[in-house]
Amino acid sequence: MFVRVLPDQAAGRLLDYSVPDHMQSAVGIGSRVQVPVRTRLLHGTVIEILEQSEFAKVRDIAALVDEKPMIRPALLDLARWMSDYYCCPLETAVRSVLPVAVRDGKVGAKMQNIVRATRTFSEDDFVAIARRAPRQADALRVVAQSEEPLLVTEAAKKAGVNEGVFRTLEKHGFVVIEASVVSRNPYAERFIAGAELTLNAEQQAAMGVVVQTMEKPEKPILLFGVTGSGKTEIYLRAIRHALDSGKTALVLVPEIALTPQTVERFKSRFAEVQDQIAVLHSHLSEGERHDEWHKIHNGSARVVIGARSSIFAPIENPGIIIVDEEHENSYKQDEAPRYNARDMAVLRGKRENAAVLLGSATPSLESWHNAQTGKYQLVRLDQRVDDKSMPVVRITDLRRPTRNDPEGGILSRSLRQAVEGRILKGEQTILFLNRRGFSTSMICEACGHVCQCPDCSVSLTYHRAAERLMCHICGHSRRAPKSCPKCSDPKIRFSGTGTQKVEEALKRIFPKARIARMDADSMTRKESYRETLGAFKEGRIDILLGTQMIAKGLHFPNVTLVGIVNADLGLHVPDFRAGERTFQLLTQVAGRAGRGEMEGEVFVQTFTPFSPSIQFARHHDFEGFMEQEMEFRKRFDYPPFGRMVMITLRGVAREKVEFSAQTLSRKLKNSAPQGVLIGEGVPAPLEKAKTYYRFQVSLRGPSSLQLSRLIRSTLAALPMPEDVFVAVDVDPLHLM
Ligand code: ADP
Ligand code: ZN
Repeated sequence: MFVRVLPDQAAGRLLDYSVPDHMQSAVGIGSRVQVPVRTRLLHGTVIEILEQSEFAKVRDIAALVDEKPMIRPALLDLARWMSDYYCCPLETAVRSVLPVAVRDGKVGAKMQNIVRATRTFSEDDFVAIARRAPRQADALRVVAQSEEPLLVTEAAKKAGVNEGVFRTLEKHGFVVIEASVVSRNPYAERFIAGAELTLNAEQQAAMGVVVQTMEKPEKPILLFGVTGSGKTEIYLRAIRHALDSGKTALVLVPEIALTPQTVERFKSRFAEVQDQIAVLHSHLSEGERHDEWHKIHNGSARVVIGARSSIFAPIENPGIIIVDEEHENSYKQDEAPRYNARDMAVLRGKRENAAVLLGSATPSLESWHNAQTGKYQLVRLDQRVDDKSMPVVRITDLRRPTRNDPEGGILSRSLRQAVEGRILKGEQTILFLNRRGFSTSMICEACGHVCQCPDCSVSLTYHRAAERLMCHICGHSRRAPKSCPKCSDPKIRFSGTGTQKVEEALKRIFPKARIARMDADSMTRKESYRETLGAFKEGRIDILLGTQMIAKGLHFPNVTLVGIVNADLGLHVPDFRAGERTFQLLTQVAGRAGRGEMEGEVFVQTFTPFSPSIQFARHHDFEGFMEQEMEFRKRFDYPPFGRMVMITLRGVAREKVEFSAQTLSRKLKNSAPQGVLIGEGVPAPLEKAKTYYRFQVSLRGPSSLQLSRLIRSTLAALPMPEDVFVAVDVDPLHLM
């Protein structure tokens, strides 16, 4: 028997080995093994079982790391698919389906001593022992009367003796002490069962489709439900249905929404089986991750909740795979393999015959398109639960701040008055600043004009050093204007307001208000997020100012006002998805208002009040927005119509990077099939990051796989300088 092995550190080479007789029954596809590679012994994964090897001399596998194959065939299959589609080495893809914490066998498991009695003991036995050694008798009694093995530390505490006593008992042959793997449960609290709610008519109809699909999975379901329409209730029911049918469930939520609040909601609904729920997120220690993973691997977890990478959780027999907030960008991994977990969910569901449920209040254009063309089934929840109304959205035009109003550019008069009113009434305000927005586009403060590429309809990027505006999709370039091309006002600039600046302004305007800021800088400690939200929930904060961190999934009944400080910050980034993102963000943020009994009000401040994403969001008109955004995408052949790949090259020597990008672009053009468009090698909008110069080459065409294969073959034949690094992003979500 021979196997083909992918060693972890052998540059993606596949090597053949023979399997010694005594290992043959245990080795299978996905087994982790140790193999000799030249003079070293490396860990690796069995990729294939072979009858014969075409090589004359093959070496033996040195050892089997774990008796059970660590990678299930369905997942190995996904890894192969990823390697091909996302244009990355197979070992990189395999690495992401097998987390670091578990890759090397049992290392990392927490061992603790447990003690159990060797036989049953009668009352007479205890009396006899007590006569000689009373403490030993007490200790033995505790152990003998326990139905399960006890931790030595625990038994000692219960018996009121020190741990050495158990060693003495062991010497007498009364007990056995052994090391055992103890699982570290990061959510060790017990949960009280939460009641099942009675579904409203819309939810019932939705549930009907979900159940039907679970019985016979055909197409993925897109659950389109406005914020607060009760989507989570549908997820909970679907999981229940899976468990009742003897199956398992996998739930993906965006990392940022994987809060204790969310976990609690799931754990309390399934309180009776809460030990069978595994939670995976990036704050787990390596040890905890290891334990949770093994809990899934050995079949004791039946529900997995986690962020992006949990799509590869080794759960068996899933009945449903749920992706909450399917439009979220964080499902896309920003290092190789650059997969999108939502898309992987659809693929995995198909391979494992599981129903796939994608939910969102603002589905992505890709998913909406799939629903429209019949690839997905569309299920809608149009009403908020209890018929709560959607918040009123007001647009404030920032273009003409009145004189003698120094803060007018940050907080307009009307928003200030609204905040003031909330403070007086003891209600709460959330102010949102989209700081991640990348503000190198030029915007006219007087008329709101934004400089755009005539051919690609994305904002042009301002490159300060060269004083030029540039399109990084097609390479169009022109001199940066000194005044607005539309209204000639010289106040054209590239703008940006940080959270700190807004916080200072707030303190000046509302000296008595209790203000808290939440962004990546102020939330460096793990607990600060929880603490701040806790204080806000208890009403000890009047105004919560924050970034993306506060946009998602939070539920505060006393928040009646939400202000978006500058809606433009996300709008004029050089990315064709800018409009979609702004619409999604405005809708999500607005959804934070009016979750309680009182009506909500939303203020959107902007320099471009008539941009479609702002207007449609204002009217809660998702479909209107989709219709016009689809038109735009179709006209320029952007996704979901055409497909795109972005190649980014980076290095410390600018000329080398530039030259490599241009060479790559030329080579790609030489072998590009008809219908494939290759961009020039141009500076990335984020031209320099962390001392690296960055250049990009974009590709557009009808099929991602086709583009990916073109890149693979071109790169294979084009040696890059050692200090120029190439990243290939298939179906990119960010074009920076
Ligand atoms: P979404 O996930 O669509 O934003 P949720 O599932 O969080 O909405 O529901 C919003 C609120 O409504 C939650 O507090 C939830 O407990 C409640 N809810 C959901 N469905 C029902 C129902 N059928 N009856 C009563 N309350 C419900
Ligand atoms: Zn262009």
